[in-house]
Amino acid sequence: MRLRVLGCSGGELPHHRTTCFLLGARLAVDAGALTASLSLPELMRVDDVVLTHGHLDHVKDVPLLADLMVGRRRRPVTVHASKGATETLRRSLFNGRLWPDFTRIPSAQNPVVRLQAFPFGEPFRIGPHSVSAVKVRHTVESSGFVVRRGASAFAISGDTGPTTAFWREVNRQPGLRALLVELSFPSRMQRLADRSGHLTPRTLVGELAKVERAGVPVYLYHLKPAFEAELRAELAELGLRGVTVLEGGDEIAI
Ligand SMILES: [Zn+2]
Ligand SMILES: [Zn+2]
Repeated sequence: MRLRVLGCSGGELPHHRTTCFLLGARLAVDAGALTASLSLPELMRVDDVVLTHGHLDHVKDVPLLADLMVGRRRRPVTVHASKGATETLRRSLFNGRLWPDFTRIPSAQNPVVRLQAFPFGEPFRIGPHSVSAVKVRHTVESSGFVVRRGASAFAISGDTGPTTAFWREVNRQPGLRALLVELSFPSRMQRLADRSGHLTPRTLVGELAKVERAGVPVYLYHLKPAFEAELRAELAELGLRGVTVLEGGDEIAI
């Protein structure tokens, strides 16, 4: 598997795009940076988008992608999300007010977007991939994933505060090649991080101590751009081994 980092920031600024990874050419994990990163032919090849949760920085390009697909794609793009997140998309986004209901455009029988709710705790398939979703700790229903193809897998935490269920799933996975973990606020903002369901370097250290798989590289993402310099300084001081901060444009071979 080849994972392209289209966006890995916890906010948007020039040179900072929100969370979005492309696995091969057809599967996107989160949709924070699809339409700003990919060409129209590349976008038309995306068959599936799997969403960690319904927050704007992770879903914002689903409606923009839908708009580009009308009249160009014959098959719908399937958007996989938890039941709670699909409800958010239906009620708050594709509701005919904030944006047209592309789950019924151009027709209800053959729309450009199909919303597909996935279960927690039971792997589901997307093309050649098997995806396990685990409920993590955020202010809204949020998922971490283990994505597997054959003998190789990677895990992505989603937006989360400290969690045990996700690490339990990670620890039972053979062939894990990469761990993508969110980090949002500096430790001096611990209260805000806890309340908003995010990690600081302090809680990150506690989370990484739960990983039993030795030597799996850890990639951090979702750093809030307003605190990025401070976060990097704090991380440098901690000197965590095998931990890197992702950059837009990075590629990870899995
Ligand atoms: Zn969020
Ligand atoms: Zn977020």
